[in-house]
Amino acid sequence: MTTRRTCEHCDEPMPITARRHARFCKPACRAAAHRAARSIPAELTSRPRWVRRTSRKVPVSVDGGTASSTDPETWSTYRDAARSTAGAGLGFVLDGDGVVALDLDHCLDDEGAVAGWARNVLDAVGDSTWVEVSQGGDGLHIWGHGRLPGDAGRRLQLGDGSVEVYATGRYIAVTGRTFGGTPQRLGDLQHVIDSLL
Ligand SMILES: [Zn+2]
Repeated sequence: MTTRRTCEHCDEPMPITARRHARFCKPACRAAAHRAARSIPAELTSRPRWVRRTSRKVPVSVDGGTASSTDPETWSTYRDAARSTAGAGLGFVLDGDGVVALDLDHCLDDEGAVAGWARNVLDAVGDSTWVEVSQGGDGLHIWGHGRLPGDAGRRLQLGDGSVEVYATGRYIAVTGRTFGGTPQRLGDLQHVIDSLL
């Protein structure tokens, strides 16, 4: 199987002149990726629950093998995952330890303006926790601490959008592109989760 290689930062196809293990299409993308790596909160980088992911969001291990969000043997430290050239980027596995992620798809327009339904969620979150822009550039991931009843992920319709809430058995693609001035830490999201459910 051959996978089309893409730049880890901008997701564009790699130039045909790129070296075999090159990860970024140009120096500006490498610099931006290094900035992003420094913005991921320590609550995530300190947990050994990192995988790589393909451009089609299939999880792979740091050595390019099959990875599973339910098999800890296929996870790695952040350091090893960040150094790996397998796949097209990073992912973090939720295992029910209280770290949760809210996935808001297609909530940013081309100018970066936030859709109304997503703005309501962000207002509830306030400036308590880290929010990142998704790989496609038009979605947001809100990271924090909380619990989901029964642990099962939920997809909740909010106006003309939807938010997915995950706590375990799932990996989330991590870009490290901090949204706005959100802080480099995980805050409490329980009150937000409770208001959504
Ligand atoms: Zn690039």
